Amino acid sequence: MLGERAGQLLDLIRRGRARTRGDLIELTGLSRSTVAARVDLLVAAGYLCESGREASARGRPSNVLSVDGSGGVVLAADLGAAHAKIAVCDLLGRPLAEAVHELRLADGPQPVLRWVEERWREMLGAAGVTSGHVLGLGVCVPGPVDVATGRIVQHTPVMPGWQDCPFRDHLERQFGVACVVDNDANAMAFGEYHTEWPASSPMLFVKVATGIGAGMVVDGRLLRGADSGEGDIGHVRISSADDGPLCVCGARGCLAASASGRALARVLREQGEDVPDSRSVVELALTGHAGATRLVREAGLMIGDVLATAVSLLNPRMLVLGGDLVLVQDLFVGAVRERLYQRTQPQAARGLRVEASRLGDRAGVVGAARLALEEVLSAEAVDRALAGRQQPVGRPVC
Ligand SMILES: [Zn+2]
Repeated sequence: MLGERAGQLLDLIRRGRARTRGDLIELTGLSRSTVAARVDLLVAAGYLCESGREASARGRPSNVLSVDGSGGVVLAADLGAAHAKIAVCDLLGRPLAEAVHELRLADGPQPVLRWVEERWREMLGAAGVTSGHVLGLGVCVPGPVDVATGRIVQHTPVMPGWQDCPFRDHLERQFGVACVVDNDANAMAFGEYHTEWPASSPMLFVKVATGIGAGMVVDGRLLRGADSGEGDIGHVRISSADDGPLCVCGARGCLAASASGRALARVLREQGEDVPDSRSVVELALTGHAGATRLVREAGLMIGDVLATAVSLLNPRMLVLGGDLVLVQDLFVGAVRERLYQRTQPQAARGLRVEASRLGDRAGVVGAARLALEEVLSAEAVDRALAGRQQPVGRPVC
């Protein structure tokens, strides 16, 4: 069947490996007529469009093929402990509508999911599209997710009642499309890489906010562990392990128990400051408060210590730091950078760039949308859709 392998051609265009029909013929070894027919199918279904002409080696200009941003939308949600960022994005990941709301994940799955569904449906209207245009959903949460089942796999204090809840399946039923659920650090890593640093592979992303987590992108794909437990560096034991502060995981001496925004807020509260959360630690440090700035710098040094091991093991090209603490940029990023270069061998550190997140607060929702796109525009999903199981709503405008 003609559409069976068209997804492969879309994949080559999406990843920048091919721009024209000629490139596709060369890369796949398919005949000119087969490529032409499959491209026509992808254009008619709203996945691809012609976006200009370029000179070819043989002299005749070729039509340049691009993903058709207007061929459908994905819905994205970054659910944080106290806030949610919600977006409707086109097939190129560009936001058509995006908003931040207060939301308490601790209220439990039922009210939170109802709220997310309502916001998504409102935003579809605001973006001028209907639920028929929705091709996929992407959600990220601040907890340990099994990406195969989309479930939270262990109790986490910011998400009581969510463990083992089949919320991905629920959202898929509500919208009739696939939903991708991932940990927020993974989503932030994915979003940051694809929008800001696409030539910086391998890229390690570390989120330091209420908790600490990491994600790694290699050649455009998230590095996955055997059981979705990758990147959980907040619970690495640091040197003072046995007599260190108690962590939310129940152990003593975890990195997060000393260097997370939650830990810094606790220390400052013990000193009589009014700092309920990670963000208020940052606000205090930005005023120049001596105790807060000292704590932020010490947190950067402790995190740099642990990351020196990660950098020695993985030799990333790029380390991007995200989350609240990065807002005290010179102090925090400087401390991480200082410790990393002290503790890493020249071969692993020579070409390493250490930068603050460019997407900032938006990294999670941008990443959730990108993860949804990765699923709905995968060769397999496109071939299934073209086979008639799930037709995209093609619109002719590129
Ligand atoms: Zn812990």
